[in-house]
Amino acid sequence: MSPMLDVAIVGAGLSGLSLAEKLQPYKSNIAVFEARDRCGGRILSELIPEQDFAVDLGPTWLWPADQPRISALAERLGLTLFPQWDRGNSLYQVSADAAPVTFVDTQTHAEARRVEGGCRRFIAGLLQRIQLDILHLGHRLQNLIDQGSHVDLVFLTEGTRLTYHARQVVLAVPPRLVAENISFEPALAPELLSLMRNTPTWMAGHAKAALVYPKAFWRQQGYSGNASAPYPSAILGEVYDACPATYGAGSLFGFCGLPAELRERYRDSLPALIVRQLVGLFGEAAATPQNLRIHDWSQEPFTSTALDRAPIFEHPVYGHRALQLDHWQDKLHFCGTETAGKSGGYMEGALEASDRVFTALTL
Ligand SMILES: Cc1cc2nc3c(=O)[nH]c(=O)nc-3n(C[C@H](O)[C@H](O)[C@H](O)COP(=O)(O)OP(=O)(O)OC[C@H]3O[C@@H](n4cnc5c(N)ncnc54)[C@H](O)[C@@H]3O)c2cc1C
Repeated sequence: MSPMLDVAIVGAGLSGLSLAEKLQPYKSNIAVFEARDRCGGRILSELIPEQDFAVDLGPTWLWPADQPRISALAERLGLTLFPQWDRGNSLYQVSADAAPVTFVDTQTHAEARRVEGGCRRFIAGLLQRIQLDILHLGHRLQNLIDQGSHVDLVFLTEGTRLTYHARQVVLAVPPRLVAENISFEPALAPELLSLMRNTPTWMAGHAKAALVYPKAFWRQQGYSGNASAPYPSAILGEVYDACPATYGAGSLFGFCGLPAELRERYRDSLPALIVRQLVGLFGEAAATPQNLRIHDWSQEPFTSTALDRAPIFEHPVYGHRALQLDHWQDKLHFCGTETAGKSGGYMEGALEASDRVFTALTL
């Protein structure tokens, strides 16, 4: 029988890792279990080796004016923040055939900041602060059993089922994934399961494309790099400058406008279609990116479910009280950004949630 854990945290995204960091001095025996073979969850920045900078394929921005926790974490980890580049003309295109119109927009990102080196720096910084032997990658939680004095956690790892035991369990996993992929004995109340299923995982149905060029030719032509293309056939609905903090290589990123089903259907053609769209916006210089990465979160089973394929158009209201309370007599807690009231969905919300669970576990 594996030793009894004080706290088992499931999910090594921002909320799970920040909770582990906070709990470490207070609990002697904690473990973090993660289904993927990497940490970070929705935080994913890919290093472009030739250019020595990282493009963010998950979150890009934080807003220090409204987000005290993520700003404080950036400061504590010694990260450098810099403003999103907005200088120059932005573009608006009503249809694929229409010439883009220029306008000056200083509001869209007025307070938004990026992290030098990419948001992965949050994860790398937290990993330096927690004992690495508490991390168990490649452990997918399948089943939780309330044994009265403790909880049994059944994982699938490399095709084998492994059982751990913990006095308290924190699910730092989006509620919808919990409802869809994890079974509970005894079963959770149908109302709670239905609430979790109806809580959309923020950005889970989206895809991002990042392109790298030798230099930011659009800046030299007086463009900010921002473009909006809100017509149904637009491959990228929004485009933004994604250059590194210190001027060097050029980079643009965009959110795919096509819904998940169409992205899947046209998957092989997407790179060429994206380049064609950018040539239409910024001219021939956009035709030859050195790198083009597309990351489709709707294809990631540890972020997205079939329910997330339906696009959402407004920021959902998060932080339902039932997801903030303890369950199974204080043995089961929900964490993760979708359980946060004020900043649910954002990185700030992941920290808001881990603060709440930390308080509950150390009272
Ligand atoms: C494309 C995109 C753009 C975004 N842009 C921004 C932005 O600009 N600013 C911002 O603040 N936020 C943004 N976000 C949201 C931000 O990424 C999230 O708020 C934050 O990363 C959530 O962290 P989390 O720990 O709550 O959840 P997650 O990062 O989803 O972590 C959950 C973890 O649980 C693991 N897991 C899932 N199922 C299991 C299982 N059965 N067993 C074990 N482990 C499991 C997952 O692999 C994952 O590592 C964006 C997200 C995306 C995808």
